[in-house]
Amino acid sequence: MIYKLIYLLLIGLFFISTFINKNNLFNDINSSVDNFNIRFNKDIQILKNEIDFLNTTKKSLPFVNYTVAENITYFDIDGSGVYFKNITSHPNQFNFYNLKEAKENLNSKFDNSLLFIVYNNIRSLKNDRKVIYTDDFSQTWVKILQKGALNFDVFQNKRSISRNNTEFALYNFYTDRAHEKEMFTIIFPEYDYFNNSQKLRALWYFDFDPNFFAKNTDRLKRNLGLNTCIIDGDYKVVYSTNKNQASKIKNIHNFYIFPLEKTNYKILVEKETIFQIIKAKEVFLIGFIFFLVFYINKKEKLKKELHSLKMINKIKSELLLREPLTSLYNRYFLQEEMVFPINNCGIVLLDIDHFKNINDTFGHDKGDHVLKAVSNCIKLVSVGSADAFRWGGEEFLIIFKDTDKENVLNKVNTLQKLIKDLNILDNYKITASFGVIYTNIKDKSSFYSAVSKADKNLYTAKKTGRDKVVAF
Ligand code: GH3
Ligand code: MG
Ligand code: MG
Repeated sequence: MIYKLIYLLLIGLFFISTFINKNNLFNDINSSVDNFNIRFNKDIQILKNEIDFLNTTKKSLPFVNYTVAENITYFDIDGSGVYFKNITSHPNQFNFYNLKEAKENLNSKFDNSLLFIVYNNIRSLKNDRKVIYTDDFSQTWVKILQKGALNFDVFQNKRSISRNNTEFALYNFYTDRAHEKEMFTIIFPEYDYFNNSQKLRALWYFDFDPNFFAKNTDRLKRNLGLNTCIIDGDYKVVYSTNKNQASKIKNIHNFYIFPLEKTNYKILVEKETIFQIIKAKEVFLIGFIFFLVFYINKKEKLKKELHSLKMINKIKSELLLREPLTSLYNRYFLQEEMVFPINNCGIVLLDIDHFKNINDTFGHDKGDHVLKAVSNCIKLVSVGSADAFRWGGEEFLIIFKDTDKENVLNKVNTLQKLIKDLNILDNYKITASFGVIYTNIKDKSSFYSAVSKADKNLYTAKKTGRDKVVAF
């Protein structure tokens, strides 16, 4: 019963630990995603700060002389910032201005993409540079940029004057080798009245850089052990920790979905499998306890079985050693169990007188009854100090151990009186004759010769009138 309870308890424990693990994992997922968003926003904030700094710096610097170091990286997420990426192949003189206009005209159209804007101040254009014009910067260009359908034809055949009477030009194509992305630069000249020279602005555009997510997404995967990916508004995969992830999410139900704040991107965390919830350590521990309890239980059962087997054997051998009617020892006990030598030993052989008559007069059943009653008298006097046997039909043997003659005689006299006092047959006194000797017994054969001596005394008792004790 107790073991069944323990088993139930262990199974319960397993389910509880699984439930807790699942709960913990879900909490981990939530807090990791929160962290993701916090880090992501921090990254964006840093970029914004940089941009603000650059803008402020720009204002305070003379327009022409402003220089920015190479390899600076900035990022625009919500249309208010600027991103520069490894722009080492471009002129390293930049001016930053007219950000508001760029935002109004371009960023609002680029839902899931980034707009990278750099304003160049290029003093001279080489002769072979292709300058291309378009008539509607804000609409046509946005569409072209969104489609990524850029070629020289688009630019070459159209001439444009912008709201600010600005001409636009494709400056060059640029390959971002680190990310294998084609980028391009657009320049549009404006006349710098202050310096009486032409100044140019340039635009870069390309898709949201997946590597911007990589760091945070990989961290999420490391923390949770669950594959994570970023998808855009069309459920297209932008970045995934799973190398085999298809570019379009097919079964969205396999993922926990979280928003990527301030964008319409989403963070998908692959749902855990049962094996990810169940922890090997716990399974091992619970399994170990289970088998330990099972082992102890089995051992205890075997022990009990062995004990009861032993008990049965004991009872069986007891039965073997005792005579069934009187439950006194039988001769088999003598053969198998008697331990010699027995010193200071009184041997008493007693025989019920005229037992045949009792059987004949009162019936065999009454005879049995008398046998039992006499046996009880014998047990009374021999308990704790003697072994008593049913030696023959109505003949009994008592062996008093470590005693003296006087004690033996006292016991025999008591027994004689007890038998006489039995009042179980109507108007009939049961008597018995006793042959007694006192000796030291060395072994089995000396025992038998002692019994035969006692028998001789018994014979004398019978011969000389019965109901007698003939001793020594
Ligand atoms: P004595 O005084 O000389 O001993 O005479 P006795 O009649 O007691 O002796 P005898 O040997 O002639 O008779 C013994 C009888 O005991 C014979 C037998 O039928 C009877 N007897 C032996 N075993 C049992 C038993 O288990 N139950 C009963 N009821 N009688 C038994
Ligand atoms: Mg007899
Ligand atoms: Mg007899």
